[in-house]
Amino acid sequence: MIEVTLLGTGSPMVDPNRAGPATLVRAGGLTLLVDAGRGVLMRAAAVGVGAADVTALLLTHLHSDHITDLTDVITTRWITTFTRTPLRVIGPPGTAAVVDAILTALAPDIGYRIGHHADITEPPSVEVEEVTDGVVWAGDGVRISVGPTDHRPVEPTIGFRVEFGGASVVLAGDSVPCASLDALAAGADALVHTVIRKDLVRLVPNQRLRDILDYHSSVEQAANTAARAGVGTLILTHYVPPLAASQEDAWRALAATEFDGTVELGDDLHRVEVTARPAG
Ligand SMILES: [Zn+2]
Ligand SMILES: [Zn+2]
Repeated sequence: MIEVTLLGTGSPMVDPNRAGPATLVRAGGLTLLVDAGRGVLMRAAAVGVGAADVTALLLTHLHSDHITDLTDVITTRWITTFTRTPLRVIGPPGTAAVVDAILTALAPDIGYRIGHHADITEPPSVEVEEVTDGVVWAGDGVRISVGPTDHRPVEPTIGFRVEFGGASVVLAGDSVPCASLDALAAGADALVHTVIRKDLVRLVPNQRLRDILDYHSSVEQAANTAARAGVGTLILTHYVPPLAASQEDAWRALAATEFDGTVELGDDLHRVEVTARPAG
């Protein structure tokens, strides 16, 4: 079984009830954080996961809403561990430069803490691996592979596929439908996909908001990707506009126009247990 918890179902727009984009995936003994949006560690704490527990942080892309709290993950892991505990970050090319810049911005804080605590003698350790495709993890019975997605003009962007015990979960991040995402998601038991309601966003008389129409999937497009890939369960997140409780059925109905599998959506901390489907 792979456990998926939507830590943050929000978007760049600040929402008092939805943290920024982040998903927790627990598979075997691994604790994987996928993206690190606003409030990620607060939400992770709600399910008993601290920065020190993270096996690896997987970044789908470097859009600010997906990495706002990377600084918090780096710092909190550093100050809550007592032996050298590198944070492993797997992301697209450009990730190392962002991490370096964050560490530069944190230089005063790093200096204060090293100066004040006798047992803190070195700065945070972050090990970055930049990838666009291929297998990035094979161990502990878990396999993690990566494939390119299409969120242009934001590039490169990547999705992740986590496999454990016969079950598989794909995390698409922000993407329009594309062949490489189809390939990554092929036959997966679950697909976690960010979505926007294009039918609603189109109605807003604000060009800056309408600009997002061309590089995100609508609910129907994500559902169509899930159907093409033969996915069992579609897990929607990153709701634009924010998902209102009274609107859940409307979002489900849009997905159902393209996909006849299970559709999961909900508030922060919505949890889905993904199991392998019987073959055939
Ligand atoms: Zn994005
Ligand atoms: Zn986003």
